[in-house]
Amino acid sequence: MNKLVDDFGRRIRYLRLSVTDRCDFRCVYCMGEDMTFLPRARVLTLEELTALSRAFVELGVEKIRLTGGEPLVRHGVTDLVESIGALPGLRDFAMTTNGSGLVKHAEALRRGGLARLNVSLDTLDPERFRDLTRTGDLSRVIAGIRAAREAGFEHIKLNAVILKGRNDDEVSDLVEFARRERLDISFIEEMPLGQVTEHDRAATFCSSDDVRALIERHHALLPSTESTLGPSRYYRMTDSDTRIGFISPHSHNFCSACNRVRVTAEGRLLLCLGNEHSLDLRGVMRRYPGDGDRLKAAIVDAMRLKPERHHFTTDGDVQVVRFMNMTGG
Ligand code: SAM
Ligand code: SF4
Repeated sequence: MNKLVDDFGRRIRYLRLSVTDRCDFRCVYCMGEDMTFLPRARVLTLEELTALSRAFVELGVEKIRLTGGEPLVRHGVTDLVESIGALPGLRDFAMTTNGSGLVKHAEALRRGGLARLNVSLDTLDPERFRDLTRTGDLSRVIAGIRAAREAGFEHIKLNAVILKGRNDDEVSDLVEFARRERLDISFIEEMPLGQVTEHDRAATFCSSDDVRALIERHHALLPSTESTLGPSRYYRMTDSDTRIGFISPHSHNFCSACNRVRVTAEGRLLLCLGNEHSLDLRGVMRRYPGDGDRLKAAIVDAMRLKPERHHFTTDGDVQVVRFMNMTGG
């Protein structure tokens, strides 16, 4: 029975859990070049991450997505996947990754019960990839996607953040790549999380409608009613199994149907991506170790903090000071 209902009648069924704030990339829309990461003692332990997941599943959460930072740089991540994958009642278990660790980890993740993977990929040009991620190697990510397929992952989805003047000329190429490799793909509007100085967000903003128009030059898009409990709106093409999704926090506000909460790597329960309302669950777990009932009571109680909506705008102003890697994208 689901016990997580907020003041607006929304039922919380989906947890996005950040397992680290660290990352081997420094994507220009996500992080600054010089990042200071959390001291280890402030990050939830693997046991705490498992206890939290158990509490949420017992309260009725059906879907957990592990994210970060980059989840695959966390030591012991495959053990964590195995513990969470074994929780009775969990119906959908996913991870969002930059893909660079998939060659190494894909098989163990699949064996541990992870069902679905989202891999972030914004460009197919190696130099541009290096430019956008500051440190990344495109060939490793492509090899990682293929390794995941071989390990038995179906419905791998690409996530692409499109920035005007940086990679909007690659929208079609990314769609063709997804079709060729039999992947789904979602296009994400850049969100004003954290202060970035590398580019002017107002100037690079590319709406989902712009991206859709670029795709429709080559393929008719048929709206689909499919949902993965996430915020994507999906479209299909007549001649391919590839689904195309749009995540549009600016242009198509999805707050009224919001069914999710996030927990940061520090154990802060965030009730909304675009607001600061939160509760320190690490504090609860460290004050009352092993007390699952108290943890669950704190989570249930926090539901009344969930705000009705976010108020992102496209003028480039930072509305939330947290970087995306702190939030768990
Ligand atoms: N490291 C993993 C990855 O890149 O897939 C997981 C964490 S990352 C923060 C999750 C997603 O958030 C990625 O798809 C990334 O492209 C997206 N993202 C990061 N910063 C963003 C921003 N400012 N606006 C929109 N999406 C962003
Ligand atoms: Fe790392 Fe993902 Fe952020 Fe890129 S988007 S810097 S891969 S956490």
